[in-house]
Amino acid sequence: MSDFSIEADWGALYVDGEWTEGADGETIAVEDPSTRETVTTVAAATESDVDEAYEAAAAAQSAWAEQPPARRQAVVEEFLDVLEAHHDDVTDLLEYEVGGSTLMGETSMQIATDHATEAATLPRRMKGEHVASNIPGKENLVERQPKGVVTVISPWNFPLNLSMRAVAPAIAAGNSVVLKPSTNSPITGGLLFAKLFAETSLPDGVINVVTGRGSEIGDRVAGHPESDVVAFTGSTSVGRRVAGIAGENLAIPAMELGGNNAHVVMADADLDRAIDAATFGSFVHQGQVCISINRHLVHEDVYDEYVERLTKRAAALPTGSVHDEDTVVGPIIDESQRDEMLSYVEETVEAGATLETGGETVPIDGVDDSLVVAPTVLSDVTQDMAAACNEHFGPIAPVIPFSDVDEAVALANDTEYGLSGAVHSTELSLAKEVAQRMETGNVHINDQPINDEAHVPFSGVGASGVGTYNSDAFLDEITETKWISVQHEPRDYPI
Ligand code: NAP
Repeated sequence: MSDFSIEADWGALYVDGEWTEGADGETIAVEDPSTRETVTTVAAATESDVDEAYEAAAAAQSAWAEQPPARRQAVVEEFLDVLEAHHDDVTDLLEYEVGGSTLMGETSMQIATDHATEAATLPRRMKGEHVASNIPGKENLVERQPKGVVTVISPWNFPLNLSMRAVAPAIAAGNSVVLKPSTNSPITGGLLFAKLFAETSLPDGVINVVTGRGSEIGDRVAGHPESDVVAFTGSTSVGRRVAGIAGENLAIPAMELGGNNAHVVMADADLDRAIDAATFGSFVHQGQVCISINRHLVHEDVYDEYVERLTKRAAALPTGSVHDEDTVVGPIIDESQRDEMLSYVEETVEAGATLETGGETVPIDGVDDSLVVAPTVLSDVTQDMAAACNEHFGPIAPVIPFSDVDEAVALANDTEYGLSGAVHSTELSLAKEVAQRMETGNVHINDQPINDEAHVPFSGVGASGVGTYNSDAFLDEITETKWISVQHEPRDYPI
């Protein structure tokens, strides 16, 4: 049995290079969303465990920061080798822990690898400046140095790459890390990182992983006095609380939050491409992606054809347990999220929308109360209906008609969120105009909203976040400048 399989021991916290039981020995069950059986248990950390993790991180950080760039790069490259060596273990873990299909597992690995590859370049790219002075004989040096201890709090939906995009650059830049994964993904969002780094030459204490419920240890994690940056990905409601606590502690909050992303299809769009993109953007990983399509905004001239073709594609998607490698739409993460999705559909239909397909659970052999929701298409939807005005995290495609460009833009922007979006048109200048008017951090022309490339800045506006991830932009979040001046000649002081 591999140490990285779901049957391996995952029941400890990782603090200062040691595996340790939580202070009070409490555990949390991890449930396979396909079978709904408990597959393993993890430790539930207490606040004193959290304190120990931060003490270890703080103690290890400065020696790590002093390592030459080539050494920090080499460790991230070792990590990449270990990750690749465990490729199949990792995709299996995603399957068992978060209901990740083969497609979701491979996508996670590809994006996570991209983030770690980009992170490996950061140590050599942390450059300072030499700035001229107005004072005679003075030389100004601006050094770039790591912030210190970076707290990473990650969600369950794409845990591997969403933890990776903060953990790998933070370590590469000379910080130490305390990682708190979601209770729904304690392994692939957290403990897996500890096991992988334990196989590299990373010094003890540079990464520490505490599993436990946000409701019990979250405030202590977000507000720990040793924390210098809080890199949080998750919901807007929790994010507001975390940012408040981090801000009070004068730690930098780097927050990537929820979205309500629009897929805008103009009358002249290439419908083959728009439908291909729509099917992927709505249903990959059961729609549980912060940048998935939440609303399809479709010009009235092509509305009926769009609904008909999307419905056909949705109804044909293979659904069920992700232990069947052909499954594309697997289970929702847990019962409460599933019930929320079903109630959004029910309320939307009650408000006058038409259910074209889906809207119910799909039975799986041996599981009476399955978490699989059939891919759902709703037509005649208006912006105020539940499936459109809420950030739904499920395989639901509400389709809203519009009659002109201004209405499309107004509908797209009629949300507090501003994360991602897409616009389809064969006239590039029109598509660019719409893209520029959409109030989002990211927007993709003739594609769908799910895109993440580690060397391209990624951010949300409005209720979708504060701060920017990826490459140089995230390097700015996890490092700070220090001004050192040298007065080479005696200075003429006024007194
Ligand atoms: P969530 O409920 O906000 O949880 C996110 C993380 O915060 C989890 O690790 C959670 O731990 C922790 N947490 C909960 N209460 C806390 C507290 N008081 N203090 C500190 N941490 C606390 O989000 P989720 O359900 O895991 O993920 C789905 C959400 O994430 C969606 O809204 C989605 O749009 C968003 N998301 C955004 C992006 C992006 O890039 N913008 C990417 C992916 C997901 P527990 O699990 O233990 O409660």
